[in-house]
Amino acid sequence: MSQPKLLLLGPPGAGKGTQSANLVERFGIEHVTTGDALRSNKGMDISHLDTEYDTPGAYMDAGELVPDEVVNEIVRTALEDADGFVLDGYPRNLDQAEYLADITDLDVVVSLSVPTDELVRRLTGRRVCSECGTNYHVEFDQPETEGVCDECGGELVQRDDDTEETVRERLRVFEENTAPVIEFYDEEGELVTVDGEGAPGEVWKRLESAVEARL
Ligand code: ADP
Ligand code: ADP
Ligand code: ZN
Repeated sequence: MSQPKLLLLGPPGAGKGTQSANLVERFGIEHVTTGDALRSNKGMDISHLDTEYDTPGAYMDAGELVPDEVVNEIVRTALEDADGFVLDGYPRNLDQAEYLADITDLDVVVSLSVPTDELVRRLTGRRVCSECGTNYHVEFDQPETEGVCDECGGELVQRDDDTEETVRERLRVFEENTAPVIEFYDEEGELVTVDGEGAPGEVWKRLESAVEARL
């Protein structure tokens, strides 16, 4: 059997990145994340699209969605190259969900659900390794040495868009654009909802059983 194709949905801060790392290890699949791909290409010139801003980074710093043309292309290329994947951060609107349906078949679609006030705490306290991208949290997931990545010794930094103001805007954009995507998969009868509250290890146990039960 080929490797599983998983989709992990949920609001910013739900734990998609954290739990994707577990899925990668458990199933030997690739982590395909539009957020990381876009962060590596923040300065790319997209002025030919004639949209509001000229770079992905300008959309990201404002907490807005990067235009579909840019993101769809990133996902198409990444999925072509992957034998099994967990897709994280995409689709974020219904047009992207339609595009995805045209290019691949998913085995399991999971939504991680977490209340809004908890999301704000998680996002404003998030720290990320500047070298390898591992996630930490100033309270909930501290590294052994403050400011230093356990995995690779890299420096931990706060993302430009993890300030309270941008976090609020990202959560608004989620409600407007991405909550309908979750409803869409639910109506198709494909969705498994996993409670994303509690310690990361507890969430992982729930997620692992939910995915295994459907493969
Ligand atoms: P989080 O981990 O908080 O959910 P991401 O790292 O997935 O955030 O995304 C950061 C930013 O990158 C988003 O606020 C948005 O500007 C951009 N982005 C990521 N994925 C997409 C997407 N599928 N469509 C449009 N913009 C995206
Ligand atoms: P997403 O990719 O959905 O935006 P992350 O995996 O980056 O979410 O998690 C957001 C922040 O919350 C990170 O700082 C992470 O360390 C922390 N976090 C992840 N899962 C949990 C959890 N179950 N409980 C508390 N904090 C968590
Ligand atoms: Zn690191």
